[in-house]
Amino acid sequence: MRHNKVICVGRNYVEHAKELNNPVPTEPILFLKPSTAVSAFEEPIAVSQSPHAIHYELEVAILIGQELKQANTQQASAAIDGIGLALDLTKRELQQELAKQGKPWEIAKAFDTSCPVSTFIDNNKLDLGQLDFELLIDGEVKQQANTSMMITPILELLCYASQHFTLLPGDLVLTGTPKGVGQLLPGMHIEAKLGDLLAVKGKAI
Ligand code: ZN
Repeated sequence: MRHNKVICVGRNYVEHAKELNNPVPTEPILFLKPSTAVSAFEEPIAVSQSPHAIHYELEVAILIGQELKQANTQQASAAIDGIGLALDLTKRELQQELAKQGKPWEIAKAFDTSCPVSTFIDNNKLDLGQLDFELLIDGEVKQQANTSMMITPILELLCYASQHFTLLPGDLVLTGTPKGVGQLLPGMHIEAKLGDLLAVKGKAI
């Protein structure tokens, strides 16, 4: 399936909001990445060519299979085509600088290949509120969480997003990153796992 827009949520895990000294939001903070941000997880991530440091954020990604507009949780559940993992790559210092100036931070979040995605698995028998996932860098666990730790759980997040943007087949929803984000350096090996359901590898160059 060709991917379209990517809807992302900021600060959906309390401990991650705290590690960046951000207040914990009372409503989801949404932002978009265009289709040109999406790349395959296995594709090498070119960090050495970027004038700004690129940071990783591992997130559970939802693949949308049906149009969703002003959806309720039942419709949101029926519209999910698969579950996978994605990196919300971020030029962190640039983002913080832009935010400080009150400017939009798309160029720090929505740049080309800023959203490497895994393949997607069938979600039929999965409990979306109880998924373990983790990120290893050079074999060391950097991020480890369970979707039960989300401030806004997956179905509620899809409903909220669909109040503002019509979700179309092929759209992706990234559900926020837990604590443990950090910079990607050339040569780093990346491994992401969704419990024992999915494992995917990448590399920074
Ligand atoms: Zn993120």
